[in-house]
Amino acid sequence: MATLVTGGAGYIGSVMVEQLVEAGQDVVVLDDASRGHAGALDESVPYYDGRVGDRALVASICREHEVDACVHFAALAYVGESVTEPKLYFQNNVAEGLGLLDGLMSAGVKRFVFSSTCATYGEPVRVPIDESHPQAPVNPYGWSKLFMEKILSSYDHAYGLRFVALRYFNAAGATKKKGEHHDPETHLIPNVLAAAAGRRPYVSVFGDDYPTPDGTCVRDYIHVTDLCTAHTLALEHLRGGGQSEFINLGNGHGYSVMEVIETARRVTGREIEVRMEPARPGDPARLVADATKAREVLGWKTQYPELEAIVRTAWEWHEAHPEGYGTQGQATAG
Ligand code: UDP
Repeated sequence: MATLVTGGAGYIGSVMVEQLVEAGQDVVVLDDASRGHAGALDESVPYYDGRVGDRALVASICREHEVDACVHFAALAYVGESVTEPKLYFQNNVAEGLGLLDGLMSAGVKRFVFSSTCATYGEPVRVPIDESHPQAPVNPYGWSKLFMEKILSSYDHAYGLRFVALRYFNAAGATKKKGEHHDPETHLIPNVLAAAAGRRPYVSVFGDDYPTPDGTCVRDYIHVTDLCTAHTLALEHLRGGGQSEFINLGNGHGYSVMEVIETARRVTGREIEVRMEPARPGDPARLVADATKAREVLGWKTQYPELEAIVRTAWEWHEAHPEGYGTQGQATAG
């Protein structure tokens, strides 16, 4: 019995692999080496360099490693890029996802944990957002994830595929060994810490006239370890015969961009220069999760409910890995 983790060389996928290995579970990684980092791979874990949509490869990995469940992280996740290059997003996130599901089911694997997103809700009509909130994505990235959710529901009904689709709010933080390294980096916390470390001259704040207490956007930051714990619980839920579910993952607390910057000043003890810039198109003012269902259905408890602890773990990782995973970082087949 092993878990197939797609995107195991990426930010969240690499933490998932670390957590499953620490729990003594068998894991196998499939990653196409396009956006992950070789340094994020765990050398003790079998790794296949290939497309998740390669049905024959997926089926042969499942048979060889006795895979009984898949956690699917491998996807493109830049909102802005999805607007300018939608075909990349529908091809990678939907068409490749369909191939993955075919490959899994042809090998008899019918347990699936899916990385979904609060971007499937679009502009919120009420906050906090629970799972029954209307889904109306405002960009192709959000649509690509919502299409996958609909495909999963249909496959559950028709083929008995059981899945847990986890709708992430803002993943952040690091473990000792694994952290966040994107190129280009668009996320707030790594950018703020890069400014604290002097690797960026300043941090841009996108918009200061939102209808929030300080005018900057409010987000719900969730530690990557807590996020992965929910996936481990989702696997247990499915292996225990649980039904398919859609579940939000967030802390239920919102922090503004300025509060994140203030927290980073405190944690790092460094100056952080701020420049106000125009709002990014499509950024909602407030995204905060109602994560009651994750606690009730999965028994999920978070270890890092406070922003300060989340930022501290990210800072410790950046201090220990000033170049992230380095510049030769693209994953290659092992
Ligand atoms: N943000 C910012 N400066 C940055 C990066 C992000 O002001 O360098 C803002 C962004 O506009 C949003 C919030 O920080 O309101 C969180 O952005 P991020 O890209 O981290 O996550 P998102 O909520 O877009 O998924």
